[in-house]
Amino acid sequence: MTVELLSVGTELLLGNIVNTNAAYLAEKCASLGLSCYHQTVVGDNEKRLYEAVRLALSRADIVILGGGLGPTKDDLTKEVTAKVFEKELYEDKHTKERIEQYFRQMKSGKITDNNWKQALVPEGAVVVDNHNGTAPGLIIEEGGKTAILLPGPPNELKPMFEESIAPYLSSRQPEGIYSKMVKLCGIGESKAETMISDMIKKQTNPTIAPYAKTGEVHLRLTARARDEKEAECLIRPVLEELYRRFGRLIYTEDENVTLEEAVVELLKEKGYTVTTAESCTGGKLAARIMNVAGVSSVYKEGYITYSNAAKRKLLGVRKETLDDFGAVSRQTAEEMAKGAANAAGADAALSVTGIAGPDGGTKEKPVGLVYVGCHVKGHTRAEEFRFTGNRDKNRDYAVVRALTLLREELLAGEK
Ligand code: ATP
Ligand code: MG
Repeated sequence: MTVELLSVGTELLLGNIVNTNAAYLAEKCASLGLSCYHQTVVGDNEKRLYEAVRLALSRADIVILGGGLGPTKDDLTKEVTAKVFEKELYEDKHTKERIEQYFRQMKSGKITDNNWKQALVPEGAVVVDNHNGTAPGLIIEEGGKTAILLPGPPNELKPMFEESIAPYLSSRQPEGIYSKMVKLCGIGESKAETMISDMIKKQTNPTIAPYAKTGEVHLRLTARARDEKEAECLIRPVLEELYRRFGRLIYTEDENVTLEEAVVELLKEKGYTVTTAESCTGGKLAARIMNVAGVSSVYKEGYITYSNAAKRKLLGVRKETLDDFGAVSRQTAEEMAKGAANAAGADAALSVTGIAGPDGGTKEKPVGLVYVGCHVKGHTRAEEFRFTGNRDKNRDYAVVRALTLLREELLAGEK
């Protein structure tokens, strides 16, 4: 089944607001197994909106319209769509009562006349209650074509989609779509793709789609099936094959688990505390670890040591090390990690020192050269990386590499 998105609003056309609704809806529709080939933005103009609705309905089975359901004159979506379907508008008693109740609850005083406009619905339309505003959503079905009208404000559109529209769209699909996200770290996208190119070539059900994330590779497995059990049976052998090929590079098969969560979980399992000593990442690594709720049991304190003096004072990096090898060196990274673990009394420590750019690079030590140190229970190791992004990207990559290195070291002792 195909779906098309039509976002209504002159504000969108002028770039006053970003079309986050379309991004949200597109992702949701994809995960429901709907094919979306077109997205359109059209202003609050009756003629152009009429044409856009007609065109969208000529191409897609389902058109989802967002915005323009408000009480004012320039909110035209419902009126125009009704016209395309040749439907009259009538007052929906239930919606009228809901609007009254909404205003009573909000204590927002008098209802103005134009608010009643929102109680008008096209004949035969399914009215979808809005629990966060006054404009109801609407589903109009006719002649094998469907228009779904949603209010523009994201805090109304999203809950309405989750609660009512997603189940409606699922019920229209003969088979459900089930997906699983396998997340890998410590491997580049092209290598990961090469390692499974035969599987990707042969794929039918489930399909495998690789996505490159900063320093990570995510593989989405999508199966079409009658129910979850059948989907599970289809996905399991593919998943097992991925484990055979990638092994420990897979850090989760849960869409919602992040790399930092996986690493913190490992630390918790082992009962280890961790600290960080950062130079070029300036606290980004600590912030990433701090993304994890409940991290206080593993992370107590950390260090940002940008200057050599700070590296010496807070982490005990030796003067000779800095003089002989420089601040951006494997030796300094190792001493930073070890020194941080000592200073914080932590079982594990990560350090980052590098040249993020755009300036500061030399022939021997170019921009993008980063050393990541990792210390776990008396064992210290450092790795060299050469990133090729801009300042921000290089720092983000360094953070992911640091987390990946810690994960490797924590798993190294395990079978
Ligand atoms: P209202 O009753 O608020 O007028 P509406 O359904 O008529 O709602 P619009 O008037 O089109 O919707 O938009 C209202 C507000 O919702 C916009 O000012 C904007 O903040 C937000 N909004 C609308 N469309 C989008 C979109 N596509 N992406 C993100 N935000 C949007
Ligand atoms: Mg409006």
